Amino acid sequence: MVKFLFGIALFLCTPFSAQSVANSSSEVYDDLLRLQNNTTVMYLAAHPDDENTKIISWLTHEKHVDAVYLSLNRGGGGQNLIGTEKGALLGLLRTQELLEARKVDQGRQWFTRAMDFGFSKTANETFGFWDKQKVLSDVVWAIRKNRPEIIITRFDPNSNGQTHGHHTASAILAMEAFDLAGDKNAFPEQLKYVKIWQPKRLFFNTSWWFYGSKENFDKADKKDLISINVGNYYPLLGISNNEISSKSRSKHACQGFGMALERGNDLEYLKLLKGDPPKTNDIFDGINLKSEYKPLQNQIDKTVADYNFKNPELSLNNLLQLYDLLQKDNPKDLKLEAVKDLILKSQGIYFEWTTKNTFGTLNEEIPTIIEIANRSGKNLKFSFDDASTKEISAGEDFKENQKYKITNEKISNPYYLKKLPKDNLYVVENQEDIGLPEISTAINKKITIDFGSTKIDFNVPLQQKTTNPSIGERYEPFYTVPAFVANFEQENYIFNAKAKEITIELQNFSGNSKAKVSLKSDKDWKISPSQNVNFKEIGEKKKLIFTVEPLSKNTTSNLEAVVESNGKTYNQSLNVVDYPHIKRQIWIKNAQVKIQNLDLKIPDVKIAYIKGSGDEIPSSLRAIGLPVKELDIKTWNPSLLKNYDVLILGIRSYNVNSEMAVINKDIWKFVENGGLIVNQYQTNRGLLTDEIAPLQLKLGGNRISEEDAKLKMLVSNHPVFNTPNKISEQDFDNWIQERGLYFADSWDKKFVPLLEGNDAGESPKQGILLVAKYGKGTYVYTGLSFFRELPAGVPGAYKLFMNILALGNTKK
Ligand SMILES: [Zn+2]
Repeated sequence: MVKFLFGIALFLCTPFSAQSVANSSSEVYDDLLRLQNNTTVMYLAAHPDDENTKIISWLTHEKHVDAVYLSLNRGGGGQNLIGTEKGALLGLLRTQELLEARKVDQGRQWFTRAMDFGFSKTANETFGFWDKQKVLSDVVWAIRKNRPEIIITRFDPNSNGQTHGHHTASAILAMEAFDLAGDKNAFPEQLKYVKIWQPKRLFFNTSWWFYGSKENFDKADKKDLISINVGNYYPLLGISNNEISSKSRSKHACQGFGMALERGNDLEYLKLLKGDPPKTNDIFDGINLKSEYKPLQNQIDKTVADYNFKNPELSLNNLLQLYDLLQKDNPKDLKLEAVKDLILKSQGIYFEWTTKNTFGTLNEEIPTIIEIANRSGKNLKFSFDDASTKEISAGEDFKENQKYKITNEKISNPYYLKKLPKDNLYVVENQEDIGLPEISTAINKKITIDFGSTKIDFNVPLQQKTTNPSIGERYEPFYTVPAFVANFEQENYIFNAKAKEITIELQNFSGNSKAKVSLKSDKDWKISPSQNVNFKEIGEKKKLIFTVEPLSKNTTSNLEAVVESNGKTYNQSLNVVDYPHIKRQIWIKNAQVKIQNLDLKIPDVKIAYIKGSGDEIPSSLRAIGLPVKELDIKTWNPSLLKNYDVLILGIRSYNVNSEMAVINKDIWKFVENGGLIVNQYQTNRGLLTDEIAPLQLKLGGNRISEEDAKLKMLVSNHPVFNTPNKISEQDFDNWIQERGLYFADSWDKKFVPLLEGNDAGESPKQGILLVAKYGKGTYVYTGLSFFRELPAGVPGAYKLFMNILALGNTKK
């Protein structure tokens, strides 16, 4: 039997887009070699970036087997080095980075429903956030669906407390799922869709990192480890394995993993955790890599043997026979899609269906262009969904402008974000969707090629194509969006008793020119009346300003934007994640934000800010009426600081700006003369200068990941806890995700530590919030996660931050 694999997952991305196609004769041959094997290996870890791309690429290029990376989550809880996306939007970005990485290393990507809730120190803490049985069921599902012979974990199941809790949890789940996937009594509800599957071996991909140092690992007894040289050079492709894996790893741009290409021999080590030990140094020892369905395997082997490098087109008959065999045997198999792809590549047939438009809406008629290049040596007949046919002669590039009316009522939305996540798991209603990285929302055109005896259908997705004189062509997905969307500028609005103007941006995608827009909340708020808007064209944006005033103290409500047009009501926002290294992503969600009236005293200070890797502190401060000037350090000049009381250093400013080392002397002078510096967290690894303060200050990796961990005020009469806002224990309630990270390890005795706290079972930490007098001014280092708490509108964090800023009042 041919293995029942993959469903349609792999080819939900757009296989025919011009930029992703590797079509050379040797690349087609390499694809054929991968077709020859019928074996899957699953690499299993916790996050985007945990995967060892050296091993994935070695599996797909050296062993020519199928490799799938199962990441427990999509990584929305981490930090973002290239933009301000957090949470679900960061998860969308990282999902796409993983898919781009897999295009390079030829692996496939899977996920469980688990959401990244941020750092945790132990597997137990992790399973306190995730329903362990549900995540385990997803891992078992992934094994039954992908049917791997071998599973490789990145982490050691016995590493509790030594690494991120998600990491240990991923290995523990792999151990348990290995035993359960083949047991018909485990998760029997899945057996409606899949058969049980018993993988043969489970390995742990160890490395020096797990031994504390390279020296320790060099000395360690490796007789129980299997070693793999992942430095192979592939003359067929003109590239070595570690060059491919470095390119793949560099796709994790938002985690700062862009790297130089590596070359040369390189050993990876695997330790058997479960299953029969291989008798040789080969992880596949005793495992049949081929299909047990003989006619199919024979036909694949024949196609490989007959392959003509100078003229790949001659493979057509072999490939058509393969296609027919797969049609009869199992139309859903991955190999069927691979064979269709090989037919196009070997024949030099190229399709694309494009539009210049970015978005469209129901009933809109958009201009599109269909292109079919027949670069095979023969005339071919193509037929389309509307039953029309077209003969395209050898060498002809057929292009036609076509109007397309959007009749699809479905809004393009990531399948796992259609509902709000529950208990730190994404809500996926259809069992068969669980695990998929994405489900295409593209509008497809069916094109059938008539090869005489065999007719083959291809789905060609509608894509946006733009051409820019400086970068050339760019392809992006085309998305269907609501007729009107309304976006707020922030997720949370903090009020300080007074009325505030709130701006929303309305965008029209319909032909309707008139709309009525209102903001709605509850009785605690007074909102200015609805407004009528006229649009001239599709895609036009208009900004509308409403006045919102709190009517009662200390209140929190939702505020919703509602658009009425032509008898219909719209209440959604359009959120776009757009970077050159990924496919543009959108998330359509309710146009709803949180409004809070806080009892907050705001200091009278002028604030300058130097950006690090990106945080939303400036907009959070502006939201409560504090002006913030963002300084450009590329054109640094000491006089830039002249008119300010406070300089806030953005998160990781010393990790990402090499200029900081140069301007340090100016900012120390600023403190000496009476200014206040608030240094938000820096990571202890990868500092671009050792001097991050005018006084001795050494950072460590300590953090408090329990967001409700008790914090003790060490000097309760310090201004930070008293002026202008009185801080009490309640002000540490309702913080999100964590208390803080990258606390200081040691410091000059002029620094006064103001807070003490720790995660359960750990020793108390004091490097959380340090304040020192320096000259006439004040220097503050804090690892508290203000960059998360302020954008989330956490009242106590706002009060504490106001008091820190008030230390800059000394200049007056
Ligand atoms: Zn990780």
